Parts: sequence; structure tokens; C-alpha cells
Amino acid sequence: MILSKDQINRYLRNIIIPEISGSGQKKITQSKIYLYASTVQEASSLIYYLAASGIGYISCYFKDSLGYEKLFKNIQDLNSDVVIELANNELSIVYSDSLFNEGFVIRILISKYVELQDNLISFSCSHNHSKFIPTIVSINNGWNGFLQTFSNQEDFNELLIKPLPIDSNSFGNNVQEKEGNVLSNCVLSALTSVECIKLSLNLGKVLDKPLYFNLLSMKFYKWDNKVFYLAITDFLKNSSYENNLPKNSENYNDKKLSNSKVLIVGTGGLGSPVAYALSSLGVGTIGVIDYDSVEISNLNRQILHATSRIGMPKVESAEAFISDLNPDVKVVTYNTSINIQNALDITSDYDVIIDAVDNFPTRYLLNDSCFFANKPLVDAAVVRFHGLIMTILPNKGPCYRCAFPLMPNQKPGTSCSEAGVLGPVPGFMGFLQASEVVKLLLDIGDTLSNRIIYYDALDSDFDTISMNKSTNCNLCGAEPTITELVDYNNSCESTNNKEMN
Ligand SMILES: [Zn+2]
Repeated sequence: MILSKDQINRYLRNIIIPEISGSGQKKITQSKIYLYASTVQEASSLIYYLAASGIGYISCYFKDSLGYEKLFKNIQDLNSDVVIELANNELSIVYSDSLFNEGFVIRILISKYVELQDNLISFSCSHNHSKFIPTIVSINNGWNGFLQTFSNQEDFNELLIKPLPIDSNSFGNNVQEKEGNVLSNCVLSALTSVECIKLSLNLGKVLDKPLYFNLLSMKFYKWDNKVFYLAITDFLKNSSYENNLPKNSENYNDKKLSNSKVLIVGTGGLGSPVAYALSSLGVGTIGVIDYDSVEISNLNRQILHATSRIGMPKVESAEAFISDLNPDVKVVTYNTSINIQNALDITSDYDVIIDAVDNFPTRYLLNDSCFFANKPLVDAAVVRFHGLIMTILPNKGPCYRCAFPLMPNQKPGTSCSEAGVLGPVPGFMGFLQASEVVKLLLDIGDTLSNRIIYYDALDSDFDTISMNKSTNCNLCGAEPTITELVDYNNSCESTNNKEMN
């Protein structure tokens, strides 16, 4: 099978990554994945990212399949190449042996922590150990997530046999942590998609040891010990901070979010997951700014858009997606670039601003206008297999110029069309941005206001870099030289000054 011209256009930014190229994308397109989840909602964001990346065949088993038709229809519109089906209801199909014989190459189990033991019983072992299919187990509870990829039956048996410490309260209260549950599920879905692509292509290091994260503290831990049970026990023993955060009531949170206004600047690779998560959670007003129109090459990662909306202004396409997902959200569209004339006016109107742009001039402009308007800004950037994120609280923590005083010159070969980006990487960074926004709006947890998280998808590494406000900063330092918005003569619209998104 040779990729068709449409497929090449659709997967363009995957294909131009040398580690993937055309043959890699072809392999992804031929991969068959079996997915097990309790509900459609729990699997939705994962299925969006698997389909966008071009995974060719997705078989889904839902304990409760309510709402699958609508999701499958949207998935077909995102990528008509993907075969997506409801799995045979017979549980025997879950046996690794029979899946192996049917050509499946990866199994995924999505579970809430409290349901894990039950789900594992359904998601059974292989009779024949040589037919074990690599299995990704994704577990969430409140703001916490766990992920591990099992490559052999022996490791997987440990998870099956050892009882888990079931006290779910140790990880927070499920009922009161709706926001955490949604966000940790989204974050896991992007990480799981990354793992699937790495497994399909035998690329980088898979997460063969347990990864745990907490989105309230924005901490990521990888255990050396392979045994999941020990990792969780270890976590329970050593964590105190994560479990003792003040909690608002559910009503308070719902009301607070529905009265909030968030501005997403850019509706591409980063803006898509942010909009997905925030509209799922019922943020009352979401503003979206973009001057582009939907192109087929956006669809390998920009899950807000769809084949049927190619050619439409991106903000209109985003509005269609958000309204379909949650009609209660008010969407305000700005079909324009953000610039020195409109930046202050627009940002002043919102509670939190999301930097989801793909170029440095706009990044600096947003930093400056959020500083002058005294608005929190959540910034992220991605290229190839890497992403970074920081949160900027004007006057309280370092700004973008504190961290990066000089606007980098875009090096040749690092632009959007030349360097590529792996689709789920902006997904992951965008879901982290959404988590930061929700924490800011609800005034809970620790934000990344004095840290940068650097993510390396190939090695599954998460580095945290501490950062301080710079007294020499031209904008927020002791003797500022920048006292009004600077016009960089918007080279951001020229492609040679583009970062990735
Ligand atoms: Zn500064």
C-alpha cells in the first residue's frame, strides 16, 4: 500500500519527522488497536488522537456504549481512513491470543482507579505467552494519573495478581474532583497515543515502568521498579502534599467555571486540546482567535477541525466543535491575528489567556499585553517530539522575557513545515495548559508560575526547570525599558518565522 496524496497531505507533519517519514506513517496506518473502557466519554479524547495520528484500525469495547455513534461519526469526519468499530461483546475476544491472531498489535485498558480490579478481570491474560500483545494500562483518579506499558505476560501478571491498595480516598475524592478526573483522563489519552505510535514504530523508550503524575502539583514521577503495585504503595507512603489540598464543593466549582472567560490564542495543535478540555468542563465563555483556515494537513493533530470543514475559518470550525461538545459554552470568535492594535483590548476581557500560537513575535506580544493587562498567561510550545510549558502570573512570577530575554532567531530547518511535530505531543501540552487554567480559575493547587516543564516524548522524560523573576527583565524587572506594546512588524504571518504547533 502506498499512501495516497490525501493521506500524505493529512499526515504531512508526521511524515516530515525523519524518525517517522512515509514508511513510518504507513506502518501507523496499518496498526490495529484494541481499546477497553468503561464509557465512551472516558475513551473519547484518546480515540480522537489515535485517529488523528492515523492509527488505521481501532476496535473499542465499552462497558456502556452510550453515545458511541456520535463519536464514531466525528472520528470519520476527522479522518475517513480510520476503521473504527465496536468490539465483539464476547469477553473472550479480550484474550491476548485471539487478538493476536486477528492481527492486533496493541491493547489499551482505560480505567478509573476504583474500577481497575474489576476491569482487569475482564481484560484477561494470554494463554500462550508468546502471543502477548503490548498492553498500555491507563488509570486515573481525581487529579492523579498512572500509565504503564507492559511488553510481556510476566510483568502484566504482577498487575493482575497483586491486589491494589483500594482506598481511593488516598488519591482524592472521585465525586468532588470532576475537573481532575476529566483533565487527568485527557492527559493520559495524549500520553497513551504517544506510546502507541512509539510501539508501532519501535521508536524511543516505551514507558515500561510506572509513570505517576499529579496535575494539582504538576509533578511527574517515574519509578525504577517495574511493579505497578509497589509503585502505588510507594506513592501512598510518601505523598502527603497531594492528598491534603483544600477542596471546593462541586457546586462552587461548576458555578465558578461557568462564570469564567478564557481566551485561546491559536486554534491549532495546542488550542485544540485546550478547547476540548475546557468546553468539556463547562467553562462559560471561550474566546478563540485565529486568522487561518482549516487545511487537510492540520488534521493529524488539530482535533477541533474536520474534513467537512476544510477551507472554513478555523475559529468557525472551532466554534462548531465546541458547540457540538457542549452547547452551554458561549464561544466568541476573532477571525484575525492578534496584534499591537487589538491585543490589550481583547486580553483585558478575559480571566486567563492561553498562548497556543506558533511564532515568537506573537508569543512576546501576548506576554507583554498580559503583563500590562495583569492577566495570567499559560504558555506552551512544541516541536517534533518535544514540548514545554510555563504559567506567567504578572508581577508575581517570572514572565516570558525573564526566561527568554531575547527573541530567538528562528533557525533554518526548525519551522513548521520543515521540522514536523508528532500529533499527540501538542495534545499533551495543551491538556496540561487546560489543567493550569482550571487551577487558576478555581484557585487550587500549585501552578507552573516559577517552573518550566520540558517534555521529551521519545524518552518519556519530564524535566522541571526552576525559574525566578529576573531583576534585569526589560518588561517586569527593576528598570523596565518596555513600557508599551512593541510592534515586531508582524513577521508572524510569514512561514519562515514559525515555530511548531
Ligand atoms: Zn519579566
